[in-house]
Amino acid sequence: METKKYELPNLPYGYKDLEPYISEEIMTLHHQKHHAGYVSNLNVAIDKYPTLFKKSAEELLKNLDEIPEEIRMAVRNNAGGHVNHSIFWNIMLPFGTAQSKSKVGEPSGKLAEEIKKQFKSFTEFQQKFNDEGLRRFGSGWVWLVKDKDGTLQIISTANQDNPISDGRIPIMGNDLWEHAYYLQYKNVRADYLKAWWNVVNWQEVEKRFIE
Ligand code: MN
Repeated sequence: METKKYELPNLPYGYKDLEPYISEEIMTLHHQKHHAGYVSNLNVAIDKYPTLFKKSAEELLKNLDEIPEEIRMAVRNNAGGHVNHSIFWNIMLPFGTAQSKSKVGEPSGKLAEEIKKQFKSFTEFQQKFNDEGLRRFGSGWVWLVKDKDGTLQIISTANQDNPISDGRIPIMGNDLWEHAYYLQYKNVRADYLKAWWNVVNWQEVEKRFIE
């Protein structure tokens, strides 16, 4: 059977383009070692049930119950790692490039309206997102999701769990694993969370929200 394996996507910018907020060293290791590792481990797991290669990594995560138990945890962790990082690279861009149709560094349009409705202001939204990211003990992700009832919510997940496994649509997410910041920010996750807003690609986040 012809099988198409999962592949590591290229970054939409260079490894040093998110400096000074995220260093070239972090970006290189994060993409070439961590994300590449998730992709390769996912392929190893799916090789045992190759018909599953027909499904996208998102489809695997949406229906984890349908994955054979023997590989379910490996799929949850590694398809999660693959999908999470694929989203993550795309919702960032170098500081100073157009980040939104309106203000630089802030969302515009329908997403901006919805954020205001749900969180009162963009500043309060950022604060709540950072707080949730700080509260997550150990490794995981902080997300803005479209919840089952259609409202925007801030949640965090453990490890490489993706909100789609729980019926929620991830709009944007930040990586809380130490590999995402330790080489530059050491143990100070709060500083990393604050700096990260400088490289958010609001046009891409708005696109994900509308889709
Ligand atoms: Mn990561």
